[in-house]
Amino acid sequence: MRKNWLYCIGLTALFLLSGCDNHQRDADSALILEGRTMGTFWRVSLAGVSPDRREKLQKQVQQRLDNDDRELSTWKPESVISRFNRYRGSEPQPVSDNMADIVTLSLRIGQKTRGEMDITVGPLVNLWGFGPDKQPIRIPSQAQIDAARALTGLQHLRVIQRSEGAYLQKDLPDLYVDLSTVGEGFATDHLARLMEQEGINNYLVSVGGAVLTRGKNAQGNPWKVAIQKPTDKENAVQARVDLQGHGISTSGSYRNYYELDGQRISHIIDPETGRPIQHKLVSATVIATTALEADGWDTGLMVLGEEKAKALALREHLAVYLIIRQGNGFTTWMSPQFNAFVLP
Ligand code: ADP
Ligand code: MG
Repeated sequence: MRKNWLYCIGLTALFLLSGCDNHQRDADSALILEGRTMGTFWRVSLAGVSPDRREKLQKQVQQRLDNDDRELSTWKPESVISRFNRYRGSEPQPVSDNMADIVTLSLRIGQKTRGEMDITVGPLVNLWGFGPDKQPIRIPSQAQIDAARALTGLQHLRVIQRSEGAYLQKDLPDLYVDLSTVGEGFATDHLARLMEQEGINNYLVSVGGAVLTRGKNAQGNPWKVAIQKPTDKENAVQARVDLQGHGISTSGSYRNYYELDGQRISHIIDPETGRPIQHKLVSATVIATTALEADGWDTGLMVLGEEKAKALALREHLAVYLIIRQGNGFTTWMSPQFNAFVLP
């Protein structure tokens, strides 16, 4: 069956689960490990690995992901980032190389999206109820939005590299760094590294909406990742890609939202207006050298909306796939770089 070698990158959590059931049942010669982390699911599919290794690998994966969570999670008061957010001074704070890497890349993508991807958007995320704070009971006032916006800005955050290690520094005491948008990609890259360290060359690793593959699947074919149609309950595939060792990540506006005063409130915030995005771009999928990069870009593209996202993809030569709402249906767009990964 074809589904044997299809891995589904779902466009909703539901798709992610239901869409991949067959994969798990049918792929008897692949070793499949699964678990939960960062409020989402992780999955590892391995080819040519003895089932005897299952237990140890399961533990190692969970440990690696739990470590990342302890560094990056704004939901955990004792995480490294939460402690940095609580710190009110402007002295450089020592951080791990991991943390320096994720912030450096996030700042770079932030600059290239002219601040649309902004990891300092935390106060706005919290104001709109998508952070550890509760959901608001009414739409925040302009004054509240302005006050939260005044606490954001990439220019207030710096990574300092010294011979003895890396540091983070802020020049705004209330700056609140939210790495949620890049966490899944970052963790996915870590799982890939773990597999390499374990001498495993044929793997598909995935955390939430980010996936990275290397080598071949259990049938000896390239791993294939399916992008699902956003509305299709029958598991229909919108496009199918061979990642050729790259990472892929999808960000969508329909996955995480609530309704308030008749408005649909998305968890992706436009840092310029301080309000949740409202345009017709349903999802942005990016393929990049690392899952972290893909995960950083997809959010920026979502904020930009259809036209600006296309322009950015072309300007930066990104491999991008967009799904756009049109009437009751959807249209899609892909950049030439993305096209190179698409399977017939
Ligand atoms: P998901 O996989 O849950 O869809 P995304 O990768 O799309 O996650 O990131 C969404 C999260 O990123 C939000 O919940 C919020 O914490 C944060 N966020 C929202 N808007 C922005 C933005 N403009 N730039 C950076 N992070 C953002
Ligand atoms: Mg993202």
